[in-house]
Amino acid sequence: MTEPEEGPGRPVCVVTGGGRGIGAATCLRLAADGWDVCLTWVSRPEPAKAVAAACRSLGARALVLQADVAREADVQRTFAAAAGLGRVRGLVNNAGVLGPQSRVEHLDAARIRRTLEVNTLGAILCAREAVRLMSRRSGGDGGAVVNVSSRAAVLGAPDEYVDYAAAKAGVDALTVGLAKEAAADGIRVNGVRPGLIATDIHASGGEPGRVARLAPSVPLARGGEPDEVAAAIAWLLSDDASYVTGATLDVSGGR
Ligand code: NAP
Repeated sequence: MTEPEEGPGRPVCVVTGGGRGIGAATCLRLAADGWDVCLTWVSRPEPAKAVAAACRSLGARALVLQADVAREADVQRTFAAAAGLGRVRGLVNNAGVLGPQSRVEHLDAARIRRTLEVNTLGAILCAREAVRLMSRRSGGDGGAVVNVSSRAAVLGAPDEYVDYAAAKAGVDALTVGLAKEAAADGIRVNGVRPGLIATDIHASGGEPGRVARLAPSVPLARGGEPDEVAAAIAWLLSDDASYVTGATLDVSGGR
């Protein structure tokens, strides 16, 4: 963990999986918007440290720590560290994984379990810790959660990763239910459903060129950039979205 630098009392946002892709773009956007960030990595420390350094150069304080969102103790340690940095007012449930493209009949239980544990269990555990810290009922300042789902939750990802689509549909239900439950605690809960965004995740599914292959099927006729998802996340976290809760915004070029 990197020690925070001294700085003014800015709100703190936890961003899981903040070292790469959409999470990295989100950290940089939030740092520019006036947030301090607590970002996590699970397997790749160097990109996460570089993102933290870039956030600091934008005037934010940044903590970076290893934490597997599927491990309850890691999640609790993450939020304890974030609370040590300042007043936690935001969570971006960004960490996510998918396995190699496969039809359902070829999936084994270990892969399905990991997909559900990282994408769904992890998001719920992080949301729980965020509510515990942010709830006005327990002395917090209120805040906002943004869950990073996927258009796969609606499209189903046939022949690729139906398990991931099902895990993300669970994230969408988390957004709906927790928004209603936590509204009286001063906490808004929303989601984004990215479409085809240029990140490493497609290579982890076994097809690095997936965005280029499918871009012609997108009404806007291209893949999206992580910054374009980060902008939606930052808006949902901001006071500009003060009357928005329980919503999930498609950031998918119309696909
Ligand atoms: P990415 O480039 O592969 O980055 C994934 C991030 O998640 C990495 O920072 C990784 O950490 C972290 N991570 C993975 N497993 C984790 C775990 N168990 N605990 C904590 N962190 C973990 O993917 P991305 O495209 O930016 O994806 C970000 C989110 O967007 C995911 O939820 C993904 O499902 C969603 N999404 C992406 C797309 C797309 O087209 N790119 C579309 C729809 C939804 P390390 O760097 O340490 O490995």
